[in-house]
Amino acid sequence: MSSQRLDIRPIYTIDADDRLVQVNRAFAQSFGPVTADDAERLLIGRPIWDFVAGTVPRQLWEVLYDRVRAVGAPVFVPLRADTASERAVIDMELHPLGDRSIRHVCEYVFRESRPAIALLDSNYPRDHRALLRCAWCARIQIRLGLWQEVEDAVISLRLEATETLPQIRDGSCASCTLSVLKTFPARVA
Ligand SMILES: [Zn+2]
Repeated sequence: MSSQRLDIRPIYTIDADDRLVQVNRAFAQSFGPVTADDAERLLIGRPIWDFVAGTVPRQLWEVLYDRVRAVGAPVFVPLRADTASERAVIDMELHPLGDRSIRHVCEYVFRESRPAIALLDSNYPRDHRALLRCAWCARIQIRLGLWQEVEDAVISLRLEATETLPQIRDGSCASCTLSVLKTFPARVA
């Protein structure tokens, strides 16, 4: 097991209308290898909601944004930011700026590589089935109310050797929903 800290934290800022107004290179590169100019062209002015999948995760982000803007103090949101071949945990700081804009600073607190998981590989062929993945803890719902780490879900659902795999849709497990709803900015005294 190895872990490391990134030198450059992904940072992006949305304005009062939830549109991207600033992105740094580390954030842009999470969409693939792009130049700084490409990042500007592809990302700036887009609603952040273009990049948030799932109705419930969006509703929860809206709750967090409302609280950060109303109180004018930051919150910290722990998140899994896995790829097919990497487990990662980030601590995302939502930092209110003036004019109701919000800066997002993503601090990697843990990263470790793993054998690539086909279920998380966007190039793998998909079929009509769909599985929910928690947008916060990255666990997969294997049946109603039962969520497992993706490696365990692949075994539980016997997905290792199939020619096509279910689609992955973003949702929110009960414990993450509860913890997001309990997240309030601490007003600075
Ligand atoms: Zn969860």
